[in-house]
Order: sequence, then structure tokens, then C-alpha cells
Amino acid sequence: MVRALYPGSFDPVTRGHLDLVDRARRLFDSVTVAVARNSSKQPLFDVEERIEMLRHELPEDVAIVGFQELVVDFAQRNGFGVVLRGLRNVGDFEFEYQMALTNRHLRETVETVFVMPSHRFSFLSSSLIKDIVRYGGDVSSFVTPRVEDALRRKLRG
Ligand code: ADP
Repeated sequence: MVRALYPGSFDPVTRGHLDLVDRARRLFDSVTVAVARNSSKQPLFDVEERIEMLRHELPEDVAIVGFQELVVDFAQRNGFGVVLRGLRNVGDFEFEYQMALTNRHLRETVETVFVMPSHRFSFLSSSLIKDIVRYGGDVSSFVTPRVEDALRRKLRG
């Protein structure tokens, strides 16, 4: 059994995240999405809102949890052998490579696995999407209609 943990901010979930989960479900026995509570990124949505949006968009066999500790500690304590991360471009690679090796140093038993999204989503980020909505742009090809509504309500009232 290989259980994968997919940690991140998901502020909010994008079609890129969903694409990654789809691919991961074909690779691993189970996939759990872990939403960071202690993000230093000043999230727009609180963790409960982010989890609720994910719940509507993800298949039922994908579990969703909030967490507030080192990813590798959470993974090991809960029996996850794999930490899943997305690689969109070389910009991601530098940071992710450093983090993966740091995590390996902390917990030898937890392996980081990178998956690349469809090229259609490889330029997408939650922060870019928030900027587009802030200035009234169309993000319907980047997020689901439900998430787009939530963004509009939050950013444009
Ligand atoms: P974090 O704060 O951990 O970077 P994000 O929600 O931005 O949280 O991203 C979580 C994970 O999902 C990261 O591994 C990131 O590379 C990946 N990711 C983000 N956007 C995309 C996308 N468009 N396609 C594939 N993976 C993505």
C-alpha cells in the first residue's frame, strides 16, 4: 500500500491542483490532500473554507485534512510513505528540490514524488488567479465555477 499525502495552501484550489490529484489517484493506493493552517502566506480563505471548496471539487475517495506541523512529521505519524508535490516549471524546481532534500534529511522514510500537471495548467498559481479576479478578469478556465464565485464574493463583494 502506498499512501500519498498532497500538502499545500490551496488558497483556493485550482484546476492545476485537481489535475495533479487525478494523476496521483492513478499512481497511489490512496491520496490525501493536506491543507496548511500555518501558512506564512496570509491566506485569503481560512482553512475551513479551503477544505470545503476542496470537498466539493475532489472525488469522494480523496481525504482532506488540515494540518499545522512539519509535513514530514505529519506524514510519518499518519502512515504516508509519499509526499506529493507539483512541478510546473524550473522556478518550482529550485524551491521544491531544496525542500525535498531537507525533508529527506528530517525523515529518511518519507519520499517526495513530483508530478507534472497538464501543460494547460503549468502556468497557473492560486496567487495569479486572485490577482486576475481582483481586477475583474475571467478565470473560468483556471478554477471551477464554485471557486470562481467564492473568489468574486471575497475579492469584489
Ligand atoms: P504551497 O504554499 O505549498 O506552494 P500551493 O497550493 O500553491 O501551496 O501548491 C501546493 C502544491 O501544488 C505545490 O506542490 C505546487 O507546486 C502544486 N501546484 C500549484 N499549482 C499547480 C498547478 N497549476 N499545477 C500543478 N501543481 C500545482
